[in-house]
Amino acid sequence: MKTVITARRLLTPLEEIQDALLVIEDGRVSEIGSRSQKEAPLHARVVDFGDSVLTPGFFDIHIHGGAGLDVMRASVAELPQLGTFLARHGVTAYFPTTVAAPLDATFKALGRLADSIEAAQSDVANGNSVDARPMGIHLEGPFLSHKRRGVHPPENLVAPTLKIFDELWQAARGHVRMMTIAPEIPGAMEVIPEAARRGVCVSIGHSDAEMTIAKSAVAAGARHATHTFNAMRPLDHRDPGIIGEVLSDDRITADLIADGIHVSPAVVKIFLQAKGSERAVLITDAISAAGMPDGRYQLGPIEVDVKDCKCTANGSLAGSVLTMHRAVRNVMQFSNWTLRDAVRAATLNPATAVSMTSTSGTLNPGAPADFVILTPNGEVLKTIVAGRGC
Ligand SMILES: [Zn+2]
Repeated sequence: MKTVITARRLLTPLEEIQDALLVIEDGRVSEIGSRSQKEAPLHARVVDFGDSVLTPGFFDIHIHGGAGLDVMRASVAELPQLGTFLARHGVTAYFPTTVAAPLDATFKALGRLADSIEAAQSDVANGNSVDARPMGIHLEGPFLSHKRRGVHPPENLVAPTLKIFDELWQAARGHVRMMTIAPEIPGAMEVIPEAARRGVCVSIGHSDAEMTIAKSAVAAGARHATHTFNAMRPLDHRDPGIIGEVLSDDRITADLIADGIHVSPAVVKIFLQAKGSERAVLITDAISAAGMPDGRYQLGPIEVDVKDCKCTANGSLAGSVLTMHRAVRNVMQFSNWTLRDAVRAATLNPATAVSMTSTSGTLNPGAPADFVILTPNGEVLKTIVAGRGC
């Protein structure tokens, strides 16, 4: 059975199609085009979304929780509730992200997250209805700098070794797709190329690296940077450090928390100009408090106080309550980026950074029918995963 979705505009996001028509068949996009050139297939069900804009579903590659659930602690049965919450904000794919915790707690969490990823895969294959899906795991820690650890507990930071990396990999049954690592800590330069060889997006961050070390990390296989500016050696015009490398090297993509709290709007604009619409990636770094009232919440082993959208632990910022949909709107507001560029930074760019463009980030024929329907002023009207529920 074919379903045809029509709307005012469609962003692939590389292309913009007016008076758009999108055909869904067996959970995938089979055709896209303009109604002026393409007719709806005979016998297809047609759903018209009027003035709306169709974009690929957002892909959040750095998220610790939401709707009261913490990914380090949630059971396999609970995690789909996080997917439901994320879908309400336009997200169709995400990487549950760890924090530095005792290693045995981390191994257990990785096992549960691997179960959740495999359960979501079989739900899609079996035609069960799904919301935003965990696609892979982002290891944020334990290989972080003591000096730039943020709120990650110092007693849980570990010096990188191939043995520990492999133990984490095995516990996650190969579902690790991204790893944040401080390249200057001893052992990092052995682990970076091995992780890259296994297809992990190696992201430099939580780091006090000088520019030369950051450059060596890129030469060793690092391809991305985690929450640029936050938990990084600050940029100085005579000592550019890791940020100098991140902003000036076109071989790497970089992400940012665009909530207006972690990075000032003016610096968000500088970041977007430096990385451009091809390499800038939006993340939320959201914690369990996202979508919940002010109060005290868990971030792995860390207790976090949330007040007026600000998450802190012992005076340091501890994740966010940002949603991807809000991040997209914020970059448009902070920098005058178009909706198309802002959407690209939440869809195609993260998918490219983690080498998953075949499953996420675009609305081209053959792609999974994972998309968002936005109102003309950018609010989420509906989120569709695997073509279901339209
Ligand atoms: Zn984080």
